[in-house]
Amino acid sequence: MDNCIFCKIVRGEIPSKKVYEDDDIFAFHDIRPHAPVHFLVIPKRHVESLAECTDADAGLLGGMMAAIPKLAREQGLNDGFRTIVNTGRVGRQEVYHLHIHVLGGPEPIPGPMVGH
Ligand code: AMP
Ligand code: ZN
Repeated sequence: MDNCIFCKIVRGEIPSKKVYEDDDIFAFHDIRPHAPVHFLVIPKRHVESLAECTDADAGLLGGMMAAIPKLAREQGLNDGFRTIVNTGRVGRQEVYHLHIHVLGGPEPIPGPMVGH
């Protein structure tokens, strides 16, 4: 997508602090971190949001999720982390290129506690 900020990051047209890259996935530090460690895992291919995903995207989604434990360890997150996917208007998504937030640090991450 020509005008998508995350597609531009994948293409190197906008600089980012890269965490990881393979054929399908790109990961980079969030520019406005909400935790001592805060990075985003995105598909290289433009996918608007999780709401657009179907069974056909199961491999891509699984690959993104499965990459996170190793990346989190490499970033020093040895005691857990929080993963967040904001989806659509109600989910307060700001950038419409699918991304998984990974947040962590020495202390528990503040935020909504579902079920508590
Ligand atoms: P969301 O509300 O889930 O769509 O969050 C989008 C995230 O992208 C926010 O946490 C932003 O700080 C982050 N972000 C926006 N532009 C950039 C950028 N150029 N580099 C890194 N992170 C960005
Ligand atoms: Zn995009």
